[in-house]
Amino acid sequence: MAAVDENRLLERDARFSRIVLGHDGRPAAALELQELRPWRSADALLLPIGATLARLVVTEDFRYVKACEGPACTLLFADHTRVRARRWCSMAICGNRRSRRHIDSDSECANGTDRAAAK
Ligand SMILES: [Zn+2]
Repeated sequence: MAAVDENRLLERDARFSRIVLGHDGRPAAALELQELRPWRSADALLLPIGATLARLVVTEDFRYVKACEGPACTLLFADHTRVRARRWCSMAICGNRRSRRHIDSDSECANGTDRAAAK
């Protein structure tokens, strides 16, 4: 049932491809296939999201899909690391916040101060 609904969305996509020069623009650069999509209505903004979700559903091994451990984060991610130990959607966002809190709490312990009490 859900696949039927998803297929209805995918069928609306008018995406097409064209061959272009590679990014650096040199004549000897490799050719690339560029995908384009006409934006005929606001609903068309859902089409790339639907296509990405469809590709995820048919290609991802859901044993490796995890919820981010960031306390306020609701994102899921596919853990493709070798040891399957990834914990955050993004090290630069949720992992960094966690590390920052850990460093801050360690420095408070090392200094014997409580920042909340100092304010
Ligand atoms: Zn996150």
